[in-house]
Amino acid sequence: MLFTLSEILTVAQKNKYAVVAPDFFSLAFAQVLLNCAEENRAPIILSYCDNKTNTFELNDEVKCIQLVRELSVSAQIPVVFHLDHAPSIEVIHKYLDLGFNSVMIDASSRPMDENIEITQKVVELAKKYNASVEAELGHVGNGSDYLVKDPSEADLTNVDQVCEFTSQTNVDALAISIGTQHGFYRNTSGLHFDLLERIAQSTTVPLVLHGTSGTEHEQIKKAVSLGICKLNVFTDLFTMYEKTANAILPTNLEQVFNQKLACLNAVKDIYSSFLKTGGSLGKSSDFLCSDKSI
Ligand SMILES: [Zn+2]
Repeated sequence: MLFTLSEILTVAQKNKYAVVAPDFFSLAFAQVLLNCAEENRAPIILSYCDNKTNTFELNDEVKCIQLVRELSVSAQIPVVFHLDHAPSIEVIHKYLDLGFNSVMIDASSRPMDENIEITQKVVELAKKYNASVEAELGHVGNGSDYLVKDPSEADLTNVDQVCEFTSQTNVDALAISIGTQHGFYRNTSGLHFDLLERIAQSTTVPLVLHGTSGTEHEQIKKAVSLGICKLNVFTDLFTMYEKTANAILPTNLEQVFNQKLACLNAVKDIYSSFLKTGGSLGKSSDFLCSDKSI
């Protein structure tokens, strides 16, 4: 059942937990993620990033996205069909037309005024599709740039800009930079909880943590207790999926099913650990009273 990001995060914020948002890069991986969420009765923000390294079956991105959307609609849990890290309004427009009901505009590398301007345009566009919008203030970079040192203070979210940014853009969720990075990065000095507390005090907009792979779960748990409502996770799940899939090279139909089952079980353990840490395990029942009751 499809819900918007705004609907899901309003409930998560009120009940002080975070919903997990994994990226899919193929139809099979999307099925594994939806199955994991269903088995755990957890809402999911099923995310997709427009990326050349995606390996879609049928060699047809549009067809596969339509199929993943159909699976999301028929899932027995609340699903947000979310576009992750779109760099421009053109990319957002393309994927809204394909049926995404939530989008993230990432203009976080641009100056604040440009970030506000492009985000405002995305919010206006998304309204026509009844879609939610996430934006990013401060910059969560790529962990491979920081293999020997932690990210620069300059990339952290400037708390003095948060109120102005959220009130001028009216976004439904705000990604912030408090010490995590994307990819194989391992944070060595811990997250900036003092900064997170000050950000949470300056806005009521639900806060998002990107790059949680490789972060100690105690750190993530504390971040959720201080106001993080959405946890973006990809690298830890993808790495386990790829390792398991590559270990089995199917030569008949039975082995195809065996490979799928092995991948599901391998990803499920890690996925469940993020659900427990974020607190959304079993929380699909929070949405039973909705008029979209599932
Ligand atoms: Zn991200």
